[in-house]
Amino acid sequence: MIDRVLTKIFGTQHERDIKKLLPRVRRINALEPSIKALSDEALRARTAEFRARLTATLEGVPEEDVRTARTRALDELLEEAFAVVREASVRSLGMRPFDVQLIGGMVLHQGKISEMKTGEGKTLVATMPVYLNAIAGRGVHVVTVNDYLARRDADWMGKIYRFLGLTVGCIQNSLTDEERQKAYGCDVTYGTNNEFGFDYLRDNMKFELESMVQRGHVYAIVDEVDSILIDEARTPLIISGPSEENTDIYYQCNRAIPYLKQGKEEKDKYGNKTTTGDYLVDEKSRTAVLTEEGVSRAEKLLKVDNLYDLNNIDLLHGTEQALRAHTLYKKDVDYMIKDGQVLIVDEFTGRVLPGRRWSDGLHQAVEAKEGVRIERENQTLATITLQNYFRMYEKLAGMTGTADTEAAEFHQIYKLDVVVIPTNVPMIRGDHQDVVYASESEKYEAVAEEIAALREKGQPVLVGTVSIEKSEHLSGMLKARKIPHVVLNAKFHEKEAEIVAQAGKSGSVTIATNMAGRGTDIVLGGNPEAFAEQRRKEVESEEQFGRLLAELKAAAAKDREKVLVAGGLFIVGTERHESRRVDNQLRGRSGRQGDPGESRFYLSLEDDLMRIFGSDRLQKIMRRLGMEEGVPIEHGMVSRAIERAQKQVEARNFETRKHLLEYDDVMNRQREEIYGLRREILKGRHGRDRVLELAEMIVDYLLGRHMPEDKSPDEWDVPALELDLKDYYGLESEAVPLAGKTREEVREGIVAELQRRYESKEKLLGGDTMRLHEKFVMLQVVDQQWKDHLLALDHLKEGIGLRGYGQRDPLVEYKKESFELFTLMKERIEDQFVQYLFRLQPVLREAEGEVSEAATRRAPAALPSRRARNVNYSYGAAASGGQDAKVETFQRNAPKVGRNDPCPCGSGKKYKKCHGAAAAGA
Ligand code: ADP
Ligand code: MG
Repeated sequence: MIDRVLTKIFGTQHERDIKKLLPRVRRINALEPSIKALSDEALRARTAEFRARLTATLEGVPEEDVRTARTRALDELLEEAFAVVREASVRSLGMRPFDVQLIGGMVLHQGKISEMKTGEGKTLVATMPVYLNAIAGRGVHVVTVNDYLARRDADWMGKIYRFLGLTVGCIQNSLTDEERQKAYGCDVTYGTNNEFGFDYLRDNMKFELESMVQRGHVYAIVDEVDSILIDEARTPLIISGPSEENTDIYYQCNRAIPYLKQGKEEKDKYGNKTTTGDYLVDEKSRTAVLTEEGVSRAEKLLKVDNLYDLNNIDLLHGTEQALRAHTLYKKDVDYMIKDGQVLIVDEFTGRVLPGRRWSDGLHQAVEAKEGVRIERENQTLATITLQNYFRMYEKLAGMTGTADTEAAEFHQIYKLDVVVIPTNVPMIRGDHQDVVYASESEKYEAVAEEIAALREKGQPVLVGTVSIEKSEHLSGMLKARKIPHVVLNAKFHEKEAEIVAQAGKSGSVTIATNMAGRGTDIVLGGNPEAFAEQRRKEVESEEQFGRLLAELKAAAAKDREKVLVAGGLFIVGTERHESRRVDNQLRGRSGRQGDPGESRFYLSLEDDLMRIFGSDRLQKIMRRLGMEEGVPIEHGMVSRAIERAQKQVEARNFETRKHLLEYDDVMNRQREEIYGLRREILKGRHGRDRVLELAEMIVDYLLGRHMPEDKSPDEWDVPALELDLKDYYGLESEAVPLAGKTREEVREGIVAELQRRYESKEKLLGGDTMRLHEKFVMLQVVDQQWKDHLLALDHLKEGIGLRGYGQRDPLVEYKKESFELFTLMKERIEDQFVQYLFRLQPVLREAEGEVSEAATRRAPAALPSRRARNVNYSYGAAASGGQDAKVETFQRNAPKVGRNDPCPCGSGKKYKKCHGAAAAGA
């Protein structure tokens, strides 16, 4: 009953993990005959039955035990559920999941990573744990690397789910909130990591619970898990918009720079380092820093006592950026001035990049330096790392062909264990030793020759390169040799999938960069289904299409024979990547499901990896082995040296990601608290009682300050108290006469007056409107404060980086100071709740019956309407704090809101009648 491969002896940890699952495989197989006997309806009815069984088990279970009970109950259903999916797959897709696929599915259910080679059918593997967990009806997310794959997999696997009566949704970039809500409401939801992450952030910027699209984070299966949780995890998700910050600071700091003198680092005769001048510039690493001398001079110029005081953080930041703008950024080299704007010049192409801005205040500093108008900064409104997004799930699982080399990181960061699942059919691909040339040009010559020879033989070739530029270089060489080929780079996923589908045809040559076409299978002889789809336009009826498909299938089968004889798909690597995992991904494209195949990497001593990391050791080995021009070296020692270099880079990259995460972890707790508070407000649990409670608390605080109990009445600072009462509550001094009263009487008088005022305001507005009013004011306050806090944290991170040399651990300092900032922010939030709720005067617009705000002195600084008007979703390194961090891997603009458009808060009202009215009233 059990597939052959699985019966061999088990030895390693992975093998023992798998061995434990074999009895379950046996039991699933044993269920097969009885399940096969069911009609389609009876098979589908099992879903409802499983659900009923689960509900029955959970009945009467106390709240705190539900989770454990549910986990246990699902586990008990596993075998039947998997057997049901297997049969549904046979009936709806014509594929019967192999035993190894059942094992892969069980590992996913356990919340681990299934490492299964390319072509083993991971897409199908996911359906079994997805179905099982969807029985609980709380939503299961399947995460893919791009929109195209999300759509493809949701359609393709959707046949199984729908056959079994489950609903399937797919999140695409273009969806509206309503459509997203529907997709998240389904039993199963497919989508990319970016969409899931941004939806989470956007949900926490909403003004109504009902307009949130996600309904929780229960179980996620991440496909190509290494790409998403490791490679992509280096850059956080950021939603940004223009800030209202004060641009004067940039001019102020800019004026100081000409008074500072550049210095240098010197060594005295004892070898001790000393510095001269006010600042040091290092062009190579593109840094400019103030010396101690410079800091005190800057303090004088800017008229502050201590530039490192938390209150001066903007000035410090501004000065640093102004210094960089003056010393490292040259006009007409790094940027140009056109129509009063600073335009960035791309350092590689020399072309102007219109609309792009340097991040983190640098652009403003350059604008100040050139004396042009400062555009407002794009500031972070919400941000999260992928690590922290995915750690929110109750259960997380992943699958990929290449996880084992990063097992330690998966375990440490995500508590994900990796289980390596054996292939369905033994793998017979021949991986040849690397060959190393002295120079890059010799290497490419050899690669081109090899490709020509392979093509002659009819063997399909997939060439991997590390960059688009190198793909193009090689493409040029092949053109000169008149070798037909196609070039792929990771831009047009759908088109790419079509090309990759044909990459296994005899004699085809495909050049691809590392990420291109992942998730699409290379079938030897070509994929006739995909080919027929492409030619659908040529035929007029389904019948004709059927004939075309049959023809193409026959042709593909014949071609496959040719390719098999020639030795299968040959993988040519033109450079080793920074991590072994990426090399393995490339290799893994060949040798699927027992197909023959070969692979070889071509390297040169001029490759980046060799130059930067392996050079000394390799040079030595090379000399020992004797290297001649044009003659490559092929030796195990070289491969080992390269692997060592790769391990070094992998470790360094892990450090980078850990560093980013450590900083995000600090913010993460704060983010959770603020998002939690927001939700409470949205649920209406932060209403009138809370406001009055805070108001009273602040009264006590004010009395403690101005009328301390241990001081006699003639020492009370009555004018100060009156000022504060006005500031906090808009209370005029006549309203609560203080003269001749005891402290207790004063307190009672104020509190009673505050209650009276609040009640009369409520009477004027009506209870429901008052609740809305409270909610709205509070959300504005929280959002504005949080946004400011994020900005402060960005600056803090930078400031701390500069202080690093002071023997202190920057992370510890950051934690401490960010906690202080956070505490202060929470206080400000409470203050403003009270201030705005007491002082904003609602104006009843009789004609429309709408309420708008008219501030007695000043309205909350940022209104959501203003913010919603221009928001960027950027997926880049901007917030990672890197000096040369480049924003923009992915950015889009939210459309402007017209006065008559629906309000972005999701209320369904027109903008001008909803938040637009508030904006206009302010
Ligand atoms: P992976 O993601 O593991 O690289 P895919 O999910 O893309 O692999 O599947 C590779 C190919 O294998 C697909 O064409 C799929 O139709 C086929 N396949 C997967 N499982 C089975 C099965 N049990 N029986 C037959 N074909 C299968
Ligand atoms: Mg796949």
